[in-house]
Amino acid sequence: MAQRPVILIVGGGYVGLYTALRLQKKLRRGRAEIIVVDPQPHMTYQPFLPEAAAGSVEPRHVVVPLRRTLDQCRVITGAVAGLSHADRTATVTPAEGDSFELRYDVLVMAAGSVARTLPIPGLAEHGIGFKNVGEAIYLRNHVLARLDAASSTDDPQVRRRALTFTFVGGGYAGIEAFAELEDMARYALERYYPRLSPADMRWVLVEATGRILPEVDADMGAWTVQQLQARGMEVKLNTTLDSVSDDGVVRTGDGDEFASDTLVWTAGTKPHPMLAQTDLPLDERGRVRCRATLQVDGLDGAWAAGDLAAVPDVTKDEPGATTAPNAQHAVRQAKRLADNIVAVLDGEQPVEYRHAYAGSVASLGLHKGVAQVYGVKLKGRPAWWMHRAYHVSRVPTLNRKVRVVADWALASVFRREVIALGQLQNPRREFVAAATGGQAPSIPPPSAADRDQSGPRAS
Ligand SMILES: Cc1cc2nc3c(=O)[nH]c(=O)nc-3n(C[C@H](O)[C@H](O)[C@H](O)COP(=O)(O)OP(=O)(O)OC[C@H]3O[C@@H](n4cnc5c(N)ncnc54)[C@H](O)[C@@H]3O)c2cc1C
Repeated sequence: MAQRPVILIVGGGYVGLYTALRLQKKLRRGRAEIIVVDPQPHMTYQPFLPEAAAGSVEPRHVVVPLRRTLDQCRVITGAVAGLSHADRTATVTPAEGDSFELRYDVLVMAAGSVARTLPIPGLAEHGIGFKNVGEAIYLRNHVLARLDAASSTDDPQVRRRALTFTFVGGGYAGIEAFAELEDMARYALERYYPRLSPADMRWVLVEATGRILPEVDADMGAWTVQQLQARGMEVKLNTTLDSVSDDGVVRTGDGDEFASDTLVWTAGTKPHPMLAQTDLPLDERGRVRCRATLQVDGLDGAWAAGDLAAVPDVTKDEPGATTAPNAQHAVRQAKRLADNIVAVLDGEQPVEYRHAYAGSVASLGLHKGVAQVYGVKLKGRPAWWMHRAYHVSRVPTLNRKVRVVADWALASVFRREVIALGQLQNPRREFVAAATGGQAPSIPPPSAADRDQSGPRAS
């Protein structure tokens, strides 16, 4: 190993950020060079995405800037396209310019997961995920723009289609997004859209299994279904999304067929596909095979954690049990991983990662929630308070904690901001129309093609 080892961290999300923070604190300056590569200049605190979409938290406050936070690391804005650990070399594709090779001594693989999709006709053309801040803000603007469109037409078919919102997948990400956006739409509609009523909206959740929120006990999942149904929302259990037609008509496995301008896919994740371009050992689900110490199986100087890692769960008796892909494990694994790297650099033995899953908290809209932590089950407002208290204690940096609390305080004093900034979806539309002598429609159409041209943008 070189005099000053290079530690390459692939991904600046939960695992990457927390590992880098701890390494820069624990390693004396100059003891190692820490390089963090991520396509985004920030870490995203994903559990706040539903609240960002609902307008309870400012989009910028759910991300943590890497360069400011990791002031003793080198941050490269780009993607690792693949690597050869045998040669200790990674191929980096920067945000601009040609790809280059990066030599390292110690690898931390932390590129997380991507949406796990299925080859459903029309899904790729019409669907959108809910994993990053761009998608969350796009959906916020899109849902509000659909209310504007529905309120401004006399065509019942256009109105019905605009006000039909379809979500696929009933894990915490999907349920929180579904419930928070409906809560926001209802709030906006009751106050500012006298021509519409909440009964005009149709919110449909499609879930292939017989329950939602597998992170909590079945009775809590069933209670959540009842709460959503009491709000007039439809939860289709044991139902699949079968197809989406070119003009946005959704067909589900129960024979239902309806036009919907909104299709959100939150039906699970899979390990980052870039792993296939590496020589790291992968299991049958495409995850990096790890030991309980978070070392990559059979390799020296390679570590992995988080959503893409198959880490043995030593708290369970079942043979082959691995830790679940969630933030709770990601944060704790990152800390253990950083301590283990320091231990190995000091010639000591790494320690096994051990954490029994504590439970889950989910927000279902303002003052509504469901939680199960260390066996204690909470419903409604107490669960919602627990959700907020837990996540504000977890969001990285004091700066972000203060800003998030300030957002909540302002939203409780003044009314919620429910204005669609539709121009953010395609900011050049008007200028291009002016420059080419065309006409610019004031409300962007909701098609996937429109999303593709401009890319979602945070406000
Ligand atoms: C909407 C939502 C809500 C959630 N709520 C909860 C919750 O309430 N509780 C909970 O426990 N968990 C929750 N999760 C799950 C949790 O966020 C993840 O388990 C956690 O982020 C995993 O951490 P990670 O570091 O493995 O991946 P991530 O945090 O996703 O980080 C991966 C990083 O790698 C970067 N990257 C991607 N490709 C490359 C590449 N080629 N090269 C370099 N870098 C790359 C990405 O940009 C990203 O920054 C939620 C997830 C979502 C989407």
